[in-house]
Amino acid sequence: MTPDLHARHRAVLPDWLALYYDRPIEITHGEGRHVWDADGKQYLDFFGGILTTMTAHALPEVTKAVSEQAGRIIHTSTLYLNRQMVELAERVASLSGIPDARVFFTTSGTEANDTALLLATAYRRSNQILAMRNSYHGRSFSAVGITGNRGWSPTSLSPLQTLYVHGGVRTRGPFAHLSDAEFIAACVDDLRDILGQTRGVAALIAEPIQGVGGFTSPPDGLYAAFRDVLREHGILWIADEVQTGWGRTGEHFWGWQAHAQNGPPDILTFAKGIGNGMSIGGVVARADVMNCLDANSISTFGGSPVTMAAGLANLIYLLEHDLQGNARRVGGLLIERLRAVAATTECVREVRGRGLMIGIELVRPGTDEADPDAAAAVSEAAREAGLLVGKGGGHNTSVLRIAPPLTLTVAEAEEGAAILERALRTVC
Ligand code: PMP
Repeated sequence: MTPDLHARHRAVLPDWLALYYDRPIEITHGEGRHVWDADGKQYLDFFGGILTTMTAHALPEVTKAVSEQAGRIIHTSTLYLNRQMVELAERVASLSGIPDARVFFTTSGTEANDTALLLATAYRRSNQILAMRNSYHGRSFSAVGITGNRGWSPTSLSPLQTLYVHGGVRTRGPFAHLSDAEFIAACVDDLRDILGQTRGVAALIAEPIQGVGGFTSPPDGLYAAFRDVLREHGILWIADEVQTGWGRTGEHFWGWQAHAQNGPPDILTFAKGIGNGMSIGGVVARADVMNCLDANSISTFGGSPVTMAAGLANLIYLLEHDLQGNARRVGGLLIERLRAVAATTECVREVRGRGLMIGIELVRPGTDEADPDAAAAVSEAAREAGLLVGKGGGHNTSVLRIAPPLTLTVAEAEEGAAILERALRTVC
C-alpha cells in the first residue's frame, strides 16, 4: 500500500484524473504478462495498461532498441531526417491497406484523432462530423466534441458540429431484436435520414469495435454499407483503430477489415500498443487527404527517435511471432471458457469480443439492468486475487474489459479465467 503517494497524488493532480481501485496501485515493474506493485504483489495483467502494452511488458527487443537509441540521442525534431521514423512509416503505410498512404506520427491517440479531424475538415472545408453513439475518441477539445457518450465529455462545447449515427450499440435499444442484415439496413436508413438534413459533412469517424464503450461490435459489413452512402456525398471515412489495430481482434490486422467490402478507410488513426508503452499515436491517410494542409508541421514532437525505435522493434516482433494468430487462438479459448462461466451465473448478460478484446457485461441478477456496482466489485475481487481487468461500457461502466498483451499463453488465459470465475461467484 502507498497511502502517502495516493494522498500526494490527490493534493496536486486534478480531481478528475481517475484512478482504478479503492486502494490505487503503484506499478513499479513488469515482465511478460505480469506487473508488480510497490508492495511486491504480482498481478496477471489482463488489461495491458489499457492496451498500451501490445506484446509484453519489458519485451527485451523493445527495451534494447529503446536503450540503444536513448544512448545515442533521445529527441531531435521533425525538422531533421529521422531514419526510424521513415522505416516505421513505410511499414505502417504498407500494412494500412490504404493505397498511396502517408503517415504522420503523434504522441497519443487523442492527438491522432485531432489530426484526422483537422485533415477531414480542411479537405472537405466543413466542420460537420458524423460520429457513432456510445463512441470514445479522446479528450482534446475536438475529440471530446465528437465523443458519442456525453458522460465521458468534460465539456459540452465543441469546435465541431457533430451528429450521432446509430450502429455503435447493438446489444440494447430499439435495434436489439433485429437480425444482422436488418440492423445494417436500419442504420443505413438512419444515416441517410441524417444526411438528408445536412449539407457538406466532412467525415464519419468510428471505432470498428467500441473500446471504452464496452467492446461492442457492429455486425461485419456495417461500415462497408455506410461507405456506399458516404461516397455518394463525398464524405470521408475515418477508422479509429486505437484499440482495434495491430491484430488484437485475431481475425484481422485492423478492425476495419471486418467491413472491407467497399475498400479501406480514407483516414486511419492508431496509438496505444504500437509503442509497447512508449507514447506513439499516428494518422494514415490517402496522400491527397494528408497533403491538403497548408502547414509546415503539426507538431515537432511526434515520431521521436526513441519512440520510433520502440515501435519498429515491437512491430517486427509482433509480425515475426504471428501475435495476431495468438490473439485468435488464445482469445478464442478464453471467450469459450468465459462463456461457460457466464452460462452458470445470473449476473452476466453477455461475454462478447474478438481475439484478445473481450467484454463481460454485468446486470442485476435475472434482469437486463446494467450493474456497475457488480462490475466494480468483481474488478476489486480480481485485483485482490492478483488479476488486473478494465472497466467500460456506455451503461455506467458495467462491462469488464479484457485486453491482455498479445503474447498471452493458454496457461495464463486459464489462470485469469479461473480468478474471474471465483470473483464472479463471490459477487453474483
Ligand atoms: N480512440 C480510442 C478508440 C480510444 O480508446 C482512446 C483511448 N482510450 C483514444 C482514442 C485516445 O487515446 P489516448 O489515450 O492515447 O489519447
